[in-house]
Amino acid sequence: MIDNNAQMRLRKLPGVDRLLQMPETAVLLTTYGRTLTVEALRHTLEDTRTGLLQGQVTATSAALNASVPGPTRLVQAAADWLENLLTPSLRPVINATGVIVHTNLGRAPLSQAARQAIDAAARGYSNLEYDLAAGKRGSRHAHATQLLPRLTGAESSMVVNNNAAAVLLMLTALCHGRQVIISRGQLVEIGGGFRIPDVLAQSGATLVEVGTTNRTHLRDYARAINEQTAAILVTHHSNYKIVGFTNEPSLAELAELAHTRQLPLLFDQGSGALLDTSPFGLDPEPTVPGGIQAGCDLVAFSGDKLLGGPQAGILVGRADLIARCQQHPLARAVRADKLCLAGLSATLTHYVQEEALTAVPVWRMISMSVIEVTAVAQEWLAHLDAHGIAAELVDGESTVGGGSLPGTSLPTRLVSLATTNPDALAARLRAEAIPVIGRIQDGRYLLDPRTVLPEQVDDLWQSLVNCARTEN
Ligand SMILES: *Cc1c(COP(=O)(O)O)cnc(C)c1O
Repeated sequence: MIDNNAQMRLRKLPGVDRLLQMPETAVLLTTYGRTLTVEALRHTLEDTRTGLLQGQVTATSAALNASVPGPTRLVQAAADWLENLLTPSLRPVINATGVIVHTNLGRAPLSQAARQAIDAAARGYSNLEYDLAAGKRGSRHAHATQLLPRLTGAESSMVVNNNAAAVLLMLTALCHGRQVIISRGQLVEIGGGFRIPDVLAQSGATLVEVGTTNRTHLRDYARAINEQTAAILVTHHSNYKIVGFTNEPSLAELAELAHTRQLPLLFDQGSGALLDTSPFGLDPEPTVPGGIQAGCDLVAFSGDKLLGGPQAGILVGRADLIARCQQHPLARAVRADKLCLAGLSATLTHYVQEEALTAVPVWRMISMSVIEVTAVAQEWLAHLDAHGIAAELVDGESTVGGGSLPGTSLPTRLVSLATTNPDALAARLRAEAIPVIGRIQDGRYLLDPRTVLPEQVDDLWQSLVNCARTEN
């Protein structure tokens, strides 16, 4: 039943034509065009009508206690609707979680040089598949690959879309229809449903599991080798640790075994660490050059974990095996795009020039001492204090993340914001124009300066000040 009151109110609502005449609508028409603007006005009117009929306070009429919103108010609601529609869903956020390679937050932030290289490649044409010296068709595999052998000690290399693709391509091209031997302790699920046994099945290779969850010996591998065997696969644990009574043969031992039986040793290294993590107080992460040096025939790794570049999957190793991967039809389906190749080349250049610790954000964060973090945290504290926002410094830990170095962390200094309701504060900070993602621990809302990019500090402060104003 529609009561008379509601009917009367509905009649007071202006029509779309009237709203289109409003001076405020002119801006919308120039910004969004007629079709979208009309849709927004219709939507707003419909929404308001429904709200009035149900006697509810709708978003449109929120402040008006269910009285009929005027035309200005309606146009404003339409403008909000349009802005919301056209705000990209993928947006920059401020990572104050202290997790350096945060998979949910887009993994590695890129260096300035990498961003410039991507911009240059995006802007116009490039010699992506053009040989400038010869003046004819070239190969996209020429890009980024001139630096990878130098950095890893491998003979040859190729770049694909991501490491999952690199592993799939390597297994499909080299092991399809044959057997691959892997330790039961390495049947990993990386996250997002990426499971090594599933990838093996996808590649058309048959999985031969050896050893036990905690202990696998060289002789277990040796016994499993037969004329159907195509390769031995080693997968880096990445995101978990087996502690206690454990054993795994070293890569060098496995390489020797594989080679005496004329088999390749394939290594899914995962993180793409080119540098040793132990000088920074972290556990030693297996490195890509370490894998090649140990005798692995192919090593697969990500471009956007510890390498600190764009999303990519990289294969390095023996030239004949790389050639087989390049020639496989799947290579086309998983190829890297020009933006990735441009960003990756620039990132690799930092390693060649031995400036990765300062130029590659991921490594700058890893190598930041607690003294440096404290200095930043104190600066934030002074700024917050000047705006009447109560906060204090507390000790804590940052982690590398990205499915690498589980169970090890970097000491850090956190900014703890005074709040009676950390969940509500977290929600408000996530709703800011540039959302801030911190962490809640023991009832505190914490920000870790280690993972906040220097160029985002002003935005962070702005968001904190905005939220402090609306607290209470
Ligand atoms: C992360 C990871 C993968 C998947 O790499 P993506 O770049 O996410 O596709 C595969 N294997 C290992 C061991 C990893 O750590």
